[in-house]
Amino acid sequence: MKLTVIGYWGAYPEADEATSCFLLEEGNTNILLDCGSGAVSKLQNYKSLKDINGVILSHYHHDHAADLGGLTYSRVVDINLKKTDQPLNIFAHEKDRNEFNKLGKPPYTNVQPYNGGSKVEIGPFTFQFQQTKHSAPCYAMRIRSEKSAGTLVYTADTSYDENLIPFCRDADLLIAETSFYADQDAASFGHMTSSEVARLAASSGSKSVLLSHLPHFGNHRQLLEEAEAGFNGDIQIAKTGANFNL
Ligand SMILES: [Zn+2]
Ligand SMILES: [Zn+2]
Repeated sequence: MKLTVIGYWGAYPEADEATSCFLLEEGNTNILLDCGSGAVSKLQNYKSLKDINGVILSHYHHDHAADLGGLTYSRVVDINLKKTDQPLNIFAHEKDRNEFNKLGKPPYTNVQPYNGGSKVEIGPFTFQFQQTKHSAPCYAMRIRSEKSAGTLVYTADTSYDENLIPFCRDADLLIAETSFYADQDAASFGHMTSSEVARLAASSGSKSVLLSHLPHFGNHRQLLEEAEAGFNGDIQIAKTGANFNL
């Protein structure tokens, strides 16, 4: 499976960038993990919108879900123009019924719920979920493909949570939200610091880490150095278009 970073900012996108969104590909299956603000624009540099099979939303905060409306409208247009006949699959949790009920536009979309015990299968991919510690209900995702050996884990938004250690166990790539620097209080905001990310990566035996959901302050190099101090594996800072083969 191939993962491409479409957006990696927390809260809001910097100019010409996007907040959380990752493109996951294997064969003809193209899935988005989250669809934050700016994502629909940036995504088109890598993939035609009509070829996106589905979106898995970790939670309903705008920096993860803002562009789902635009992506849905693109499917309305593309189906009516007969560029595709496939509805957009949207997977989201139901812990916020109000938000869940607003998703989708039938028959152009197919909205399906998941929860902590769900095993969602799309094409070659299998997704498992675990709720994180965040200011709104949010789920981390553990992803495997029947055509690849690697395991991908995406923390989505969370403060440091020991319960995530077994969920992240032996990940080949851990996409970890890194919203704050080591000396800051991330937990009160429902997020992690660079050193907490390193602790999660080290204690779960993850092989490599991608720092994402980055802050709009400080110097991101410092995040990298702080994470490297607590984790011996490979660590990279998210950049638009960076891709990983697992
Ligand atoms: Zn959030
Ligand atoms: Zn967020």
